[in-house]
Parts: sequence; structure tokens; C-alpha cells
Amino acid sequence: MTERAYFDWNATAPLRPEAREAMVAAMALTGNASSVHAEGRAARQVIEAARQKVAVLVGAEAKNVTFTSGATEANMLALTPSVTSGGRKALRDKLFFSAIEHPSVRAGGRFPAGSTEELPVTREGLLDLQALRTVLARSEHPLVSVMLANNETGVIQPIAEIAAMVHEAGGILHVDAVQGAGRIDCQTAELGADLVSISAHKLGGPQGVGALVRRGDIHISAALITGGGQERGLRAGTENIAAIAGFGAACAAAGVARQADAARMARLRDTLEAGLKAATPQAVIFGADAPRLPNTTLVAVPGIKAETAIIAFDLSGIALSSGSACSSGRVQASHVLTAMGADDDLTRGALRLSLGWSTTQDDVNRLLNAWNTVISSLLKTHATAA
Ligand code: PMP
Repeated sequence: MTERAYFDWNATAPLRPEAREAMVAAMALTGNASSVHAEGRAARQVIEAARQKVAVLVGAEAKNVTFTSGATEANMLALTPSVTSGGRKALRDKLFFSAIEHPSVRAGGRFPAGSTEELPVTREGLLDLQALRTVLARSEHPLVSVMLANNETGVIQPIAEIAAMVHEAGGILHVDAVQGAGRIDCQTAELGADLVSISAHKLGGPQGVGALVRRGDIHISAALITGGGQERGLRAGTENIAAIAGFGAACAAAGVARQADAARMARLRDTLEAGLKAATPQAVIFGADAPRLPNTTLVAVPGIKAETAIIAFDLSGIALSSGSACSSGRVQASHVLTAMGADDDLTRGALRLSLGWSTTQDDVNRLLNAWNTVISSLLKTHATAA
């Protein structure tokens, strides 16, 4: 088999060795964390140690971290009218989210139909702050959901500025920090976020576990899953100890290495983008003028269809995707690029290249070599067909 290079870290990142080790150790345990005997207490200890590590990564208190089955579920838990702030008991009457949110936010969570509204973004993929100001002025108890960094473009939102606006209007801010956590600074207090969703598998933990993190004075009164009262009554069900242990270990490893990894990834990403532009000067990199994650490039070459290109790259040993993993495989325009007002032709051709801590210069070279072959052959086919 040809040696492969993996450029789809935003879909899922490889498991970190620290996470694997923690999971294997946790799988050797027998106890249920709710049992009072020594075995149960050992299981509880693993969960609480992991909770502490997750809390450190996002600068929160461990007691405000709720484990879920992933960020989709964390978003669902957060997006409910039953979120209150401080002593005030007012229910949220309206949910606002940006047009480029993940489908798990755009679905509106647990809000009734008709009480959600999408907010536009600029051509660079940044939330339109004027539109936010307008809706905040006419809403009494808003819940606003804006992602830290977009999964397709990597564009980073000015969350602190957004938080100040939302709070001034008496609102609560939820931040889907899935793509930012472990890659850029993600301290809840600095962001000004009230609720933060994260997912283990984007930062080197296992798939199927995530967390919702709350600021101390934020309260959710509607459980997502009722039953045995686990996770302080918010999410019943016996905890997935191995997954939680892996999540904690991944957060600790990501936190320690974050700055050095980010600098390395940014250098590789810059080399990669320079190579793409040199080979195909007509290529468009989306969100190139906005602040972006150090690991993400969303690029399109006019005349290239993403579906065809992905298969050709796969055969050349390169794993990459079109836009988000959730929409790849389906021939439909990315809602993110549509919201950014991108041309239809470019939208159909958008390829997402996402890197991670173990990406090497060799991987980048392999991608650039494949790029020359694949793109020039697809452009020839396109010219013949046209
Ligand atoms: N939000 C964003 C921004 C994502 O990229 C993803 C994963 N595609 C999710 C939420 C959902 O996370 P999970 O896979 O843990 O449900």
C-alpha cells in the first residue's frame, strides 16, 4: 500500500498515545463509578481526574464540566430555553446562531420551532456584528451561539467582543469551541463564554465523548437524559470511563504542547499554502484575510469538483475532505461557503486540508506532489469536457 498522509484532522484527529494508555488502564477497572465500594471509588477517581484535566484546558472549575457523548450532545444540552444566569430565573426566549455553525447548532437544540434565528457572516466568514447588535436590541432574554473557529475555513470569531455585546443585552453566550480547543487559547474567562462545548476526538482523544463546560453562575434546569442522575442530574447513564479517561489525557497532552504545536502547524500550513499558490495561482483560499486556526486551509481551484478530487487524492495516498465531514459524501454546497457569499463554482470545488501535531514536512511535500499531478490532470479533463 502507498504510504498515506492524513490531512483530515478537523474531521477527526489520530488518538494521542497518552490517551490510548489512559484508556487501556481504565478498561482494566471493574467498578461502576456510582458504587460505594473500593472498585466503584477507583472508577469515580478516574472520572474526576479526567474532569479536572478537561477543566484546566478550558480554564473552568471541574464541577462545571459535564461529560457527554460528544459535542453534538453538548450543543444539544446547552441550547435550551432552560439556561439561566446568576439568581435570575428568566427562561431564554430566543436562540440566535451564526449561519456557519455546525449542523448540531443550526438544528436549534431544544428550542421550539420558530424561536431560532440565523445571523449572517461577512465574506471572510466573520459574524456580522451589526446584525447581532440589531437582534440583541429587540430580544429580551437571548441565548446566542457562536463557534470559536469554523470547522471548514478555520476562521476564528472575535468571541470576547461578541460576549461583551451579548452580556450587555442581558444575554447568555454559548461557544462551540470544538475546533479551537487544544489548538488555540481557549480559556472560558478570557473568551467571556458562559457555556463551552468541546469534543475529545478533535484533540487526540477518542470518538464518542465530549463535554459541556459552564461558567459558575450558569444553570441548566432541563436535563438532557433523565435516569440515574449521573453528571449532577444533567446527563444520566453509566459513564464511559475509558473514553472519559482518554479525553482527560488528551486534554492534558494538548494543553502542554499547544503553543509549540501551533507554531509548527502554522509554519507547515504556510509552506503548504505557498506551494498551492505556486502550483495553481488561480486557487482561492477561503477566509485568508481573517484570523484563522494554525492548521486549516480551505482551498478551491476554479473548474475542479471536490468529489472527483477527493477520490483522486485518496488514490494517491492523501486523505483530505470537502468542507465538513458531515456534508462530504453528499453532493451539496457547503452552508458555510454559501453564507460567505462564495461563487457556486468555487463552493463545489472546496477542499479542506487540515493538519495536526504529528504532521510532518514530508507529509506536506507528498501533498504538494500529489496536488501537481491530480489538479493538472483534472484541469485537463475539465478543459476537454468544456
Ligand atoms: N461542532 C463542530 C464545530 C464540529 O466540527 C463538530 C464535529 N464535526 C461537532 C460540533 C460535533 O462533534 P461530535 O463529533 O463530538 O459530535
